[in-house]
Amino acid sequence: AATTTLLSTRGLSVHYGGVTANADIDLTVDAGEIVGLIGPNGAGKTTFVDAVTGFAKSSGEVRLDGERVDRIAANRRRTAGMARTWQAGELFADLTVAQNLAVAVQRVGLRALISDVFTGSRPPAGIIDEALAMVGLLGVADRRPGELTLGQQKLVGVARALVGGTRLVLLDEPAAGLDTHESREFGAELRRIAATGVGILLIDHDMSLVLDVCDRLYVLDFGRVIAAGSPTEIQDDPAVVAAYLGSP
Ligand code: ATP
Repeated sequence: AATTTLLSTRGLSVHYGGVTANADIDLTVDAGEIVGLIGPNGAGKTTFVDAVTGFAKSSGEVRLDGERVDRIAANRRRTAGMARTWQAGELFADLTVAQNLAVAVQRVGLRALISDVFTGSRPPAGIIDEALAMVGLLGVADRRPGELTLGQQKLVGVARALVGGTRLVLLDEPAAGLDTHESREFGAELRRIAATGVGILLIDHDMSLVLDVCDRLYVLDFGRVIAAGSPTEIQDDPAVVAAYLGSP
């Protein structure tokens, strides 16, 4: 079957005053693909996610499944099938896992798709259960975040973005704080999610995670793509080594 290009940007640029945070970025993510976006602190990774999802003013093209979305508001991009996580993606401690997802659903205007998970009557919530099943957490729908491992909490954050038939997720440092073992488990879960056809853009500073799970990588430096390719190609790229270690 032909691959579907879920996300494609052309000439995507973001300026903050005199700072060029993103410069002319061309990037694609296919269905079923995990694409890594790496680069030093301040390289513009979060800004790229902001621009793609409609949280930063940008110029250039953003297409979701071929359709231009760069001029529509963030909430409409979300309902069209792209979702992001945030660097400080905390869960509501006093709500159950299912309720945490329900809040997200209500905020993005997908309310009509769920029954009321706040009344305590289960089983409700088709699309919530569907998202939890995708990350292997259906069994903890009625627990509170504090009762879960950190790895499970991180996956709830991913499930919150997957709710509502999301086809493209942009994950901003979703594995921060996980140890080596937890991070590997998390990566395996991302592979299972991608295997369902979801496209994933992954930002993370954990290089072993990124090199392990990504099909392709883009490297940003000062807002610009300085290299793109397979994990093996990227590791050997002199420009990448220089950006990370500093040129002599
Ligand atoms: P990190 O790895 O530290 O999260 P990053 O690669 O995600 O960094 P960004 O946060 O996208 O980098 O920042 C890119 C550049 O844009 C930086 O110079 C930053 O200071 C600037 N920047 C980001 N957001 C804003 C904003 N809202 N207003 C002004 N400048 C900003």
